[in-house]
Amino acid sequence: MLIYMTDRIYLDYNATAPLAPEVAEAMRPWLQGRAANPSSVHADGRAARAVVEQSRGELAALLGADAEVVFTSGGTEADNLAVLGATGWPPAGHIVISAVEHPAVAEPAQRLRQSGVDVDVLPVDANGRADPAALRELLRPDTRLVSIMAANNEIGTLQPVAEICEVAHAHGVPVHCDAVQAAAWCDLPQLLGAADLVSLSAHKIGGPPGIGALVLRGSVDLTPQLVGGGQQKGRRPGTEPTALIVGFGAAARRVRNRRPEESGRVAELAARTAAALLEGCPTTRLTVSAERLPNTVHVCFRGCPGDALVARLDLDGVAVSAGSACHSGVTHASPVLGAIGLDPEDALGALRISLGYDTVEQEAVEATARIVGAVDAVRRAVGTVSP
Ligand code: PLP
Repeated sequence: MLIYMTDRIYLDYNATAPLAPEVAEAMRPWLQGRAANPSSVHADGRAARAVVEQSRGELAALLGADAEVVFTSGGTEADNLAVLGATGWPPAGHIVISAVEHPAVAEPAQRLRQSGVDVDVLPVDANGRADPAALRELLRPDTRLVSIMAANNEIGTLQPVAEICEVAHAHGVPVHCDAVQAAAWCDLPQLLGAADLVSLSAHKIGGPPGIGALVLRGSVDLTPQLVGGGQQKGRRPGTEPTALIVGFGAAARRVRNRRPEESGRVAELAARTAAALLEGCPTTRLTVSAERLPNTVHVCFRGCPGDALVARLDLDGVAVSAGSACHSGVTHASPVLGAIGLDPEDALGALRISLGYDTVEQEAVEATARIVGAVDAVRRAVGTVSP
């Protein structure tokens, strides 16, 4: 008999966070019965323009800086705009990216390499952290950009972005920082130092999917990647989606109000969850021990294939993510786990549990019990533990 559980527990906030009720409320007037093209000169257009500008202000305030906010369709487009935009058209020169960047940075860099741009990869240690001193060795007179993420989406490691900026700026090189995962949890003005370009995404912070931003703080020569309109000073043409932008602004305001308390509360919850998993499951380790996102618990359950565990937990009503994926019958560890040199046996049993502002203690405790049970069940099924 199949038992479907209704008490589902969502612990996959690094994938996406639910739309916050106050964000939905702020968006509602701009979703229904109102024309809202911020470029129109009439009163309706001007009203839309005013709220778009307000949202720009909310995002700049999140970064604690005077900044030019360029709205994009999400974090992916913001990253693409930074990496491709900084190398000009036709692309030329040299860039450096870290070894643990999101594919939204790594894949445009790969495309640039195919077009003749030199791309160097800044290595990371076993915790996934880059060394600013190692960057110094890679910089060249023709380096156009250094791209380093603030926090890793899988293992949660925070990067020494401020120090990276110091090294790069000493050589006159601008820095792009993908702060998509850090935005809900970190004091961005402190973490990002003097980063010149910052990528953000609304749906990771309780806003709607489909809207992000590249925030320009320094004077970076940026070639637009879309052409065909003058909106946003031509940096990213296309009619701005007013309702999504209003939602993004409301989500940024919510983060400013709630982050200081939530990051402490959730860090404690995550630490208790990690400790209970280590205690409840034999041959289990935390993947990294460096300073990391307060909401992210990344664990390796040896001998327990992560994709099977995620599927089992889904049936048990817990939404989490694996660190490895099965393609055509072969299971591959994620490139991030490869970059930190994780033992392949550990990597195959990697699980990411990511908490959010809505996660309460009872859910974390219940999810932990279900995870301990599921790890045991999967290990028995694959023969790691005798039935
Ligand atoms: N950068 C990081 C670090 C991410 O985690 C993600 C999404 O998972 C993105 C970029 C892409 O953001 P979006 O989903 O808004 O395109």
